Amino acid sequence: MAEDERSIFTRIIAGEIPADVVFDGERVIAFRDINPQAPVHLLVVPKTEKYRNVTELAAGDPELLAEIVSVAQRLADEQTNGEYRLIFNTGASSGQTVFHVHAHLLGGGTDGALSEGTLGKL
Ligand code: 5GP
Repeated sequence: MAEDERSIFTRIIAGEIPADVVFDGERVIAFRDINPQAPVHLLVVPKTEKYRNVTELAAGDPELLAEIVSVAQRLADEQTNGEYRLIFNTGASSGQTVFHVHAHLLGGGTDGALSEGTLGKL
């Protein structure tokens, strides 16, 4: 694959772009979002960029999707009170900008940032 076709997350995984990595496993990595939307905002990302979104991931490698959820819970246990919001933007009109599947883990919402009614802006 030509260098400029690789996703920004693949370049982070390769160490070419710096990131604040909070988990680095065999198949999954997690790092802080550069533009946080909550007190804790992590991206939980499979190391393969084969799957563009969560639908493709669920169909192609459900165990890897389950691993992402498991890593998210582990990170929430470490960095929040264990409660969290997990978001997979799917498609440009839902806000997806990086087409290398990733979960947004949002947590630490004691300031009300994640309270009921904050799921999406109308
Ligand atoms: P999406 O909009 O595709 O669901 O999420 C992409 C996320 O990646 C955004 O929340 C954006 O802030 C984050 N992001 C984009 N580029 C970088 C980067 O270079 N480093 C980090 N840490 N996050 C990034």
